[in-house]
Amino acid sequence: MSMPNDTRSRIINVTRKLSKCPVCGSEVIDIVYGTGYMTESEFLLKYRKSAIMGGNNIPRRPPIWCCTCGCKRFRKVNEDGTDTQVKVKMLKNIRKAPASKITWSSSMVETALDNRNLYTTHNYSANVVTELCEQETLSLTAINIDDAKELAMRLVSEGFIGLKGRTCVKIKIKED
Ligand SMILES: [Zn+2]
Repeated sequence: MSMPNDTRSRIINVTRKLSKCPVCGSEVIDIVYGTGYMTESEFLLKYRKSAIMGGNNIPRRPPIWCCTCGCKRFRKVNEDGTDTQVKVKMLKNIRKAPASKITWSSSMVETALDNRNLYTTHNYSANVVTELCEQETLSLTAINIDDAKELAMRLVSEGFIGLKGRTCVKIKIKED
């Protein structure tokens, strides 16, 4: 890996995606363009992954990665520093990450961890169907099936799963 050429400028040329920002040390994630006024948290909720919103103006030599703190953007270049063909990530091509990639914990899990003699925690997968017939599989940590069920219903009703429906019409839970 070649070292970033100049850490004083806002955009740093790199030959490949860095795992950490060389200036602030935070994670380096993709910049998504064509996002209009969408905010990072709106994107996270909808697509279940983190990205920096690039808005609708795509520069001629677009940086394609950014550190999560936002201090630096990264532009991909060839080893000799010349421009390379970059694939800009566009919002319209982004696919939602599966909901099962995130493990949700019930509020009882914290209590359980503090009182190991009273509770044990279990991992469940919950298959939920909303009133709009959307189906999703969730990974849950809870103290029992009822706790997992309540958590699944709450995640749907509060819109955390990124589904349009707010009511679970069907939940199937099994312990992993
Ligand atoms: Zn940074």
